[in-house]
Amino acid sequence: MVSATMLTAEAVRDALAGVMDPEIPVISVVDMGIIRDVAVSPDGVTVTMMPTFSGCPALHVMRRDIEAAVLRLGAEKVTVRVVLNPAWSTEWISEEGREKLRQFGLAPPPRHAGDPASVAFFDLAECPRCGSTNTTMRNAFGPTLCRMIWYCNECQEAFEQFKPL
Ligand SMILES: [Zn+2]
Repeated sequence: MVSATMLTAEAVRDALAGVMDPEIPVISVVDMGIIRDVAVSPDGVTVTMMPTFSGCPALHVMRRDIEAAVLRLGAEKVTVRVVLNPAWSTEWISEEGREKLRQFGLAPPPRHAGDPASVAFFDLAECPRCGSTNTTMRNAFGPTLCRMIWYCNECQEAFEQFKPL
């Protein structure tokens, strides 16, 4: 056990890199870009996070997992603050995170430089298996609200795309 006063924000961030997104267990909350701030003070650790999709039920689980990870470091008190402003966007997902999504078989969301409205939503998805863009949207609502179902005309198989937000 490390005493709470010896904890650094960096150590907390490292620990959070091991907390996986409950919806997509290959990508950490850090790679998802939902950790906005880590503050360590003698009073405890405060982690500020932005929820991803409000329609996803994962927030509660993430919050609990983040708390548990920081407590395991030896922090005596952890506060997880949830901020809604600025809203999380898929632009916050790190390059490494996008690559992990692809390996998981989920097409990463299109880049939109902060303006999701600029993405012609149903325009293009790259097949995570073969990289082809010869794809067709099947259904805007996948198994969770965060995903869309596409069909790759090359592989002749369906895949999911992470919705841009
Ligand atoms: Zn394909």
